[in-house]
Amino acid sequence: MKRRPFHTLLFVLVAVSAVVVATPLPAAAGADVSAVRYWTAPDHTRIVVDLTAEASYSTSVLTDPDRVVVLIAGGGIVGPHTATPVGDGLVDRVRLNQLQSGTQVVVDLVTPSAHTVFPLRPYLNKPNRIVIDIFHEGQPGAGAPARPEGAGESRPRVIIIDPGHGGEDPGTLGNGVLVEKDVALDVSKRFAKLLRSRGGYDVRLTRDGDYFVRLAKRKEIANASGGDVFISIHANSAPNRRADGTEIFYVSPRGASDQAARELANRENAADLVGGVSPNADADVLSILVDLKMSDSVQKSSDLAGLVRDELSRDKVSDCAIKQAGFVVLKSLAMPSILVEVGFLTNSSDVKKLKRSSYRQSYAECLAAAVDRYFDRYAPVVAQHEGMHKVAPGETLWSIARRYDITIDDLRSMNGLNPRATIQVDQVLTVTRS
Ligand SMILES: [Zn+2]
Repeated sequence: MKRRPFHTLLFVLVAVSAVVVATPLPAAAGADVSAVRYWTAPDHTRIVVDLTAEASYSTSVLTDPDRVVVLIAGGGIVGPHTATPVGDGLVDRVRLNQLQSGTQVVVDLVTPSAHTVFPLRPYLNKPNRIVIDIFHEGQPGAGAPARPEGAGESRPRVIIIDPGHGGEDPGTLGNGVLVEKDVALDVSKRFAKLLRSRGGYDVRLTRDGDYFVRLAKRKEIANASGGDVFISIHANSAPNRRADGTEIFYVSPRGASDQAARELANRENAADLVGGVSPNADADVLSILVDLKMSDSVQKSSDLAGLVRDELSRDKVSDCAIKQAGFVVLKSLAMPSILVEVGFLTNSSDVKKLKRSSYRQSYAECLAAAVDRYFDRYAPVVAQHEGMHKVAPGETLWSIARRYDITIDDLRSMNGLNPRATIQVDQVLTVTRS
């Protein structure tokens, strides 16, 4: 899990022609290019070049026409030298040229654009790779717009939906019928659509297409959007092909609830190694620890997990287990958060269900219903007068006390309420802390 900053981030704004940067990797003769893929994200285009071995390479920037050229020393090209048309507004196409000195990967740009180039070591079924990221102007790193402030009591509930994996990182392949990244995206989009159709929700997706988003970026989007809850959608796999049903995880300061949960978290946390993160792009995201002050978030996360389980079992959609584990994507989030594994892609009956769009729709409906019920319980924090709280629909003395970090007894005594007293919507309570 440890990353060495062995390669300097090449972040060259294209102003000069023919800037050549040699890359100090150990030379290995005979690294052939075996495949080229690309993924279009909202802020960048990622080009991934598969190699048959580790290779040294150099990068140059050429103008008229604008292009980024990566020369891979020594080797050749496996298969035909066909160009890969991209045409996504940022990159026109990717070409391969066989030279005496090696293989040239030529990225034809639409306009001069910033880029980074970095190597990826083999991981699972992926070979040595060279990643070329081309960024839109003003990127990388622009977060999602912050949520509108000052909307007062009618502010929408901000839901962050996080479809796992994407692009270069397929997630689990299960039995080969369904790919995790596709299942996660489809369920997430249905879930988002249902919430949007209800009104009162501001729904943000951490990705809405087939491209990779690194784990730290997912959290950045969530925190920058000021989300009220964060729900990550994944699909599971297990060596035991009988394992089936939903598993919902939330982060607990106590760590993983069992060995299987720990192993699953490790697999999901490896997404950055599969999908490709520039070695210098982040601090070591895997070392970020849970903020123990967030015990309120832990309680709410646990409640949200319980509501999802209730909805899934009430509608007989899926059996469901709730577990705790240290998923990187859930750690350090400033909001209650859960990770839902919608089924096992290694289990034939789960696969049969998940292949049906009607099933994925039912599943999304359960998720949306659980979110509705969650906000019945925990209305989003609204603008309040100093020391006063106006009771919103669905609130209880317990939820209000939690919000202001006071006890129910304190809340009662501040407001002269006897233990049998009930509260009404729009009732104004004193919530001044002692
Ligand atoms: Zn996953």
